Amino acid sequence: MQIKIEQANLGYGKRVILHDVSLTAETGRILCLLGKNGAGKTTLFKSLLGILPVIAGKVRLNGSDVSKLSRMDFARSVAYVPQARMLPFPFPVREVVLFGRTPHLSPFSVPGKDDKRIVDECLEMLHIAHLGNRTFTRLSGGEQQMVIIARALAQQPAFIIMDEPTSSLDFGNQTQVISIVNELKNQSLGIIMATHSPDQVFMCDADVAIVHDGKLRKLGYCNEVITEELLHEVYNVDVTISDVIRNTGQSRRICVPNIR
Ligand code: ADP
Repeated sequence: MQIKIEQANLGYGKRVILHDVSLTAETGRILCLLGKNGAGKTTLFKSLLGILPVIAGKVRLNGSDVSKLSRMDFARSVAYVPQARMLPFPFPVREVVLFGRTPHLSPFSVPGKDDKRIVDECLEMLHIAHLGNRTFTRLSGGEQQMVIIARALAQQPAFIIMDEPTSSLDFGNQTQVISIVNELKNQSLGIIMATHSPDQVFMCDADVAIVHDGKLRKLGYCNEVITEELLHEVYNVDVTISDVIRNTGQSRRICVPNIR
């Protein structure tokens, strides 16, 4: 499956934030968005999600204009993982994850056995089954983030859009979220993820879109797009990019800021 932005101007009312955006995300791949604060990443997400109408151009899900799809049809294919700290859910974790089943329920029906089984499977997959009866708002930021990802998985979508899923997480939870993102890709989901870390893009071996100066400055495979020159231009920092050999014997690129 594909979700596509075609030659679109994105923004608010008449105010264009991103000009002439064309971008395609596919299932079985990870697409990261990099760009400094205020560059337009959230604007792009809101447009992809159909929350913000495009000023010009189209957003298509498998060829269908998303502005013409019902919210339920859209939600059966695309799930959104906002930053967890935004969500005031004073409910048990299992119920929060069960909300993810809503697009699959017919009007006036209640979740059944299969829905509850899917919820349990999603909690297991993320290694958080032990949190099932805890109240969401009493969990740590990292635990909440995992629950929100579980809710998105329970939706059984083809795509998950994630807005900085590791912000506010400790090092261990950041690494776990990135491992899960890679696992989901291997299970043929498509992931579109905003991040502030070039290293995370390398860890996901992802495609990357650089949002800069009112447009998509570059788009392509991370090792080809993310260069020392580009990071200097976008973030005004000096970095060294090198390849390290991991304990698996494979190499991975890393990005080290040159602190004075
Ligand atoms: P990012 O997610 O990359 O930090 P945003 O997409 O949130 O960036 O913001 C991009 C630009 O859009 C900013 O200049 C911001 O002020 C503007 N913007 C965000 N929300 C609105 C809105 N509701 N109305 C008008 N301008 C907005």
